[in-house]
Amino acid sequence: MSVVVCARCSSEAPARFHSCPACGAPLHDERVAELLAAGAAAEAAGDLEGANAALREAAALMPPKDPRREGLGGRLEDLARRRAAAPKAAGGVGWGAGLGVLGVLAFVLSKGKFLLAGLTKTGPLLSIVASLGVYWALWGWKFGLGLIVLVYIHELGHVAALRRLGVPATAPMFVPGLGAFVRHAPLATLREQADVSLGGPEWGLGATLLAGLVFLASGEPLFAALTQWSARINLFNLVPMPPLDGGGAIGVLSRGQRALLTAVCAASLALSAEGLLWLVLIVAAFRLFGAAPARGDARVFLRYAGLVAALSWLSAVDVPLPARP
Ligand SMILES: [Zn+2]
Ligand SMILES: [Zn+2]
Repeated sequence: MSVVVCARCSSEAPARFHSCPACGAPLHDERVAELLAAGAAAEAAGDLEGANAALREAAALMPPKDPRREGLGGRLEDLARRRAAAPKAAGGVGWGAGLGVLGVLAFVLSKGKFLLAGLTKTGPLLSIVASLGVYWALWGWKFGLGLIVLVYIHELGHVAALRRLGVPATAPMFVPGLGAFVRHAPLATLREQADVSLGGPEWGLGATLLAGLVFLASGEPLFAALTQWSARINLFNLVPMPPLDGGGAIGVLSRGQRALLTAVCAASLALSAEGLLWLVLIVAAFRLFGAAPARGDARVFLRYAGLVAALSWLSAVDVPLPARP
């Protein structure tokens, strides 16, 4: 463990601390000042990658209430836009092959168990799980493999958002009992957190739509089942509670926007009868009472509400099942 010495009271503290546990003084003031200066110099010299890296490192070392955070989020967003407009550097990071056969197997076994454990509370949720069993019995590994591909695309949405922001990230990883995740360096603002969180369900929605189109074109019931379950997995991730994606996005929504989001869940539930929406709705209503910013982020609200509505609609796809003999 690396240790730093407080400049004010000379006591030692772990380097990951923002401020001295003995006297409360910020521990990394000099380094933060250096990094901010280096970031400004790199930006002036046209080195956008270097500026982005320096400012992010500074943000990670600042205490949450540091006044120098003011405006940093805006500068990073501006850098992300300019980096996206700049011509691409050659050679990307090769993370596409991160999915091993063992990982696939572990995921199939774990995700099913995980969903079963969380959703057995009420009747509608039970019927959802029952459909998982029926689809699995009908299509077996084809259904399991399809779900994994769809979840992988969801994770790639997070990776894409992180890359846009210039935050280093790992390949998506499947973990027994936990599902899939992407590890990344700390984000500088709640707005960035919301951006990265919603990137997953947005790509997930795209993948779900694609599965739906394949069903429309081919009439294969397997793809109707995949459409329904991909929509459900993405909806589940929108429950506004950490560590789920919804939990990363709701932080920037005002109380009024949370009330509207709850209303969108209720309307979607009435239209689609998708039982999972109960979870999203109840937790969203609960988050009305938590700490919320006075001015919410309208774009994040529209993205979030749009995802809930679109995924509910797709989850209601009619899955044709063969008649029982
Ligand atoms: Zn101290
Ligand atoms: Zn996600």
